[in-house]
Amino acid sequence: MPEGDTIHHAANRIRPVLLGRVPDEIRTPHPRFAADRWPERLAGREVEAVEAHGKHLFLRFAGDLLLHSHLRMTGAWTVRAAGARWPRSPRRAWLVIHADDQDVVQFDGPVLELLTETRRRFDQRLRALGPDIVADDFDEQVYLRRLREDDPTRGIGDALLDQRTVAGIGNLWKAEACFRAAIDPWRPTAQVTDDEALALVRAIRPLMRESARDGHQARFQQVYGRAGRRCPRCGEAAIRRRGQGDDNRPTYWCPACQR
Ligand SMILES: [Zn+2]
Repeated sequence: MPEGDTIHHAANRIRPVLLGRVPDEIRTPHPRFAADRWPERLAGREVEAVEAHGKHLFLRFAGDLLLHSHLRMTGAWTVRAAGARWPRSPRRAWLVIHADDQDVVQFDGPVLELLTETRRRFDQRLRALGPDIVADDFDEQVYLRRLREDDPTRGIGDALLDQRTVAGIGNLWKAEACFRAAIDPWRPTAQVTDDEALALVRAIRPLMRESARDGHQARFQQVYGRAGRRCPRCGEAAIRRRGQGDDNRPTYWCPACQR
């Protein structure tokens, strides 16, 4: 699942290829970009930064231009030696940046836009992003404050998905955080103490940072995608799965040892 750790891992792979370089070629094969002339607008510009914040990835080019990407559930970034086989069909590539004999490719969008730094600062959604759980300087106090500003009747599992409260947690890490902290994802946030709220992020932050380094996220799945299997901690019940929140995203939990 593309969650914050996935995006940081992509940024970590892209950085050595693009940072400080002027790409040899930029292509936008997807028809939706045909009229946008990104290759011309970005030609000759050095990549000054490759940044991840939560599930967003930004490539900053000289001259105040910024490529912004969000993968949602379908997109992917990949870095391949030039000429090597890509993991998805070339028809699904939205962006191809060639530099240092490598191809940096973004597949299947679904959010890919070119904007200026100024526009980024005024973008409501980007401005509202909470502290990044994978970042070195994750701010627990800001996370707690934002959590308390949210609807107190909201289930804690659903609240953890709100990118304004904490950026980078998706459905998988939400379920794993609640399981590891032994907290029922359906418990209203009003009944979750500050210590418990901190335990939730502290339980997964080191794992997400590890996954951001090596890209191996799946090994941390103890409950996500495991409905019907016996709980790996208490063995007393089978893992359950049910849609939660406005988007009805499936949550997984043990009804016996998560309270
Ligand atoms: Zn259990």
